[in-house]
Amino acid sequence: MKRNRRAKIVATVGPASSSPEMLKKLFLAGVDVFRLNFSHGSHDDHAKVFNAIRALEKELERPIAVLQDLQGPKIRVGTIKDGKQQLKKGDKVRFVPTGENGKLSNIPLHHPEIFAAIETGHKLMIDDGRLRLTVTDCGKDFIDAVADVGGVISDRKGVNLPDTILELSPLTEKDRKDLAFGLELGVDWMALSFVQKPSDIEEARKLIGTKTRLMAKIEKPSALEFIEDIVPLTDGIMVARGDLGVEIPPEEVPGRQKELIRICRLIGKPVVVATQMLDSMVAAPAPTRAEASDVATAIYDGASAVMLSQESAVGEYVVETVEMMNSIIYKTEHHSAYDQIISALQPDVQKTPQRVLAASSAAIARTIGAKAIVTLTSSGSTAARIARQRVAVPTLAITPTAAQARQLCLFWGVQAIASPDIKSYDEMVDMARLHTKRAGFGVEGDKIVVLAGIPFGRPGTTNNMRIVTL
Ligand code: PGA
Ligand code: MN
Repeated sequence: MKRNRRAKIVATVGPASSSPEMLKKLFLAGVDVFRLNFSHGSHDDHAKVFNAIRALEKELERPIAVLQDLQGPKIRVGTIKDGKQQLKKGDKVRFVPTGENGKLSNIPLHHPEIFAAIETGHKLMIDDGRLRLTVTDCGKDFIDAVADVGGVISDRKGVNLPDTILELSPLTEKDRKDLAFGLELGVDWMALSFVQKPSDIEEARKLIGTKTRLMAKIEKPSALEFIEDIVPLTDGIMVARGDLGVEIPPEEVPGRQKELIRICRLIGKPVVVATQMLDSMVAAPAPTRAEASDVATAIYDGASAVMLSQESAVGEYVVETVEMMNSIIYKTEHHSAYDQIISALQPDVQKTPQRVLAASSAAIARTIGAKAIVTLTSSGSTAARIARQRVAVPTLAITPTAAQARQLCLFWGVQAIASPDIKSYDEMVDMARLHTKRAGFGVEGDKIVVLAGIPFGRPGTTNNMRIVTL
């Protein structure tokens, strides 16, 4: 069951996709990573899906990754008198830290940290940016603002504060419980929402350790500001264009997307492009041409993965959406201009033996028309170094644990296989041959490039490359 593409597909599970039958259909249609969105659903719901995915993995004998997405400190207004209030351009509004059933003169905002950090002139947005206000005055128990764009404020609508850095833990009480639950389940990746600064990553890492890989969702302007320090601390990022596109002007999102992908490519960490990619397929059997183009752009940029949200969680055409995404990736990666575009960004080869060997194995594999680069990797870092090269030859990563194999599902071009520790060099070569054939990447007479560290099982020792004929 080999994939004929390099970039990966992440699909959010929801009511439209949570049954074991549907999960199987979606995996077969191309999903590499299932995302459990902890903004919705009970622990029980998520556990059922998780167990169904693990059962599917066993049935199909292929690693499948589960990404737990924590809600994070999503800010909301409290309840509003009569459920909603109309706000016109130029209207004055006061927000207060306590109370319920507010009118425009006392809209509840139960977040004292906002009152401590907001300043006159800051923007305040409500309902995914539909309503926009500017702060005219503020104190520790009030924020006065004037509406630049009006609309309806209704109960519990989300609030975005693009200009304000909040003294806020990236993990709410709910997130901490969800995180503990996810670790208990054994999820493979954990995504942290509304990351603002590098210390947010450190805080989460303390709780997670090395149990799962950690993904920072980039959806705040302050995360963009500190991105050079955030990326080295995480295991990957998500370009979370939903909230990001509210907090910064939409016209700035495409450029930011390119920057974020570039940073991750250069450093060698997975980058997921997310939100609204095939949004119209929530209710239609085909995407708009602009959406098809959006997916293709992420692929040309070199994104490790593209993500489905509503489309796969609540859409009417869930399987068709995954099939469409799969086809767009396939067509893009096989387009005549693709190689040239993707290799326009070539990371410098740093002079460590590991980096040099990864770059050379990619170059050699391409030159001799190898069917695969096979790497024996215990920490996954050799696979990551090859993925960084974005070379069209598929990478087979043979790794000792199932957990590692699942984590590698998110890496560009990597197909992982869990295989218990290999003891000798000859055994390694035999194993590389066997897995290449078994995975359907090559037949008798084909060439592969094998990359490994000897002695085995010691991370960071990649020191051996060999061209092997099947
Ligand atoms: P969300 O994150 O779906 O959890 O909001 C993705 C985004 O903001 O794009
Ligand atoms: Mn978001």
